[in-house]
Amino acid sequence: KRFPYFSLVQREPALDNVLRPKNLSDFIGQERIKDRLALIINAAKKREEAVDHILFVGPPGVGKTTLALIIAEEQNAPIKMVSAPSLQKSGDLIALLTSVEERGIIFIDEIHRLNPSLEEILYSALEDRSVSIVTGKGPGGKVLSIKLPPFTLVGATTRPALLSSPLRDRFGFIANLDFYTHEEMVKIIERSQKILGLNLPYESIIEIAKRSRGVPRIANRILKRIKDYIDLKEEKNINLEETKRVLELIGIDEKGLDELDRKILFALRDKFSGGPVGLKALAAVLNESPDTIESIYEPYLLRIGFIQRTSRGRIITPLGLAHIMGCKNDG
Ligand code: ATP
Repeated sequence: KRFPYFSLVQREPALDNVLRPKNLSDFIGQERIKDRLALIINAAKKREEAVDHILFVGPPGVGKTTLALIIAEEQNAPIKMVSAPSLQKSGDLIALLTSVEERGIIFIDEIHRLNPSLEEILYSALEDRSVSIVTGKGPGGKVLSIKLPPFTLVGATTRPALLSSPLRDRFGFIANLDFYTHEEMVKIIERSQKILGLNLPYESIIEIAKRSRGVPRIANRILKRIKDYIDLKEEKNINLEETKRVLELIGIDEKGLDELDRKILFALRDKFSGGPVGLKALAAVLNESPDTIESIYEPYLLRIGFIQRTSRGRIITPLGLAHIMGCKNDG
């Protein structure tokens, strides 16, 4: 691979943790969601109740986990965090639910990937705060119902349509997190760079904001690469030209596309005569999972008008064609 250094799908949990805002006032953007959350949290505090169950919907890296942690912080409540695929058997979910403390929070990331046989356990836990356990086998077996303390389930998903509607209906608040505006990205980058001990010129901050596709995690990861570059230099600052050089080095072009974005565009143009092509066929020639393409790459390419989705599949647009006209096919 030409740019093994940066891939949009990758996460850097240690970096995420360092740069996470700790309370609502530190969290930039998503104003309507923050207002609503403040209301829900304050009402719960006043009534001395658990916060209503909340579902965060949105693309990767826009702050779903951060908001779950902020709710716990603001409520001064313990939080248990799991990813849905790690809950394999009913016993895994029951153990998690029965270990929750009064007004505690359970955060289930990628909740759309929860094993369907576990969803029903979750329904009753959310609906009447109880879980049923079967003890013993055969006719001697008994069903034991365990009452749970008041608690809050916070779910996060990139694919809300994959959640069954009974599960979706049990959330008191469904918050759709959007991509951030350019101005918000500038503020997020200013905040993050300070925490990382950088002192970037304003033009560099603007350039990074332009190339981060409205996703704070991407901006933070670019900042980390810039910091690595500065750490290796004698002089501890960087100008716009050098900022652009670092971005080029890690394969992020002036529209914020990475190597796989460009491969998608090249494949559409060269392997499928511009499309239309189905997701599976496209994923197969790129050797990527259809889910990665659909949830991480396509939303941005659609948003900037480089591809379109028709009833017969994806097509590349004249704008998309113009963008790769001058580019080399790195694959
Ligand atoms: P995933 O779906 O991949 O789990 P996520 O939506 O949960 O992603 P987070 O892990 O919460 O995303 O956020 C990624 C990083 O982006 C965090 O380190 C956080 O610092 C930063 N971030 C996200 N939203 C904001 C924001 N509104 N203001 C400042 N920083 C933010």
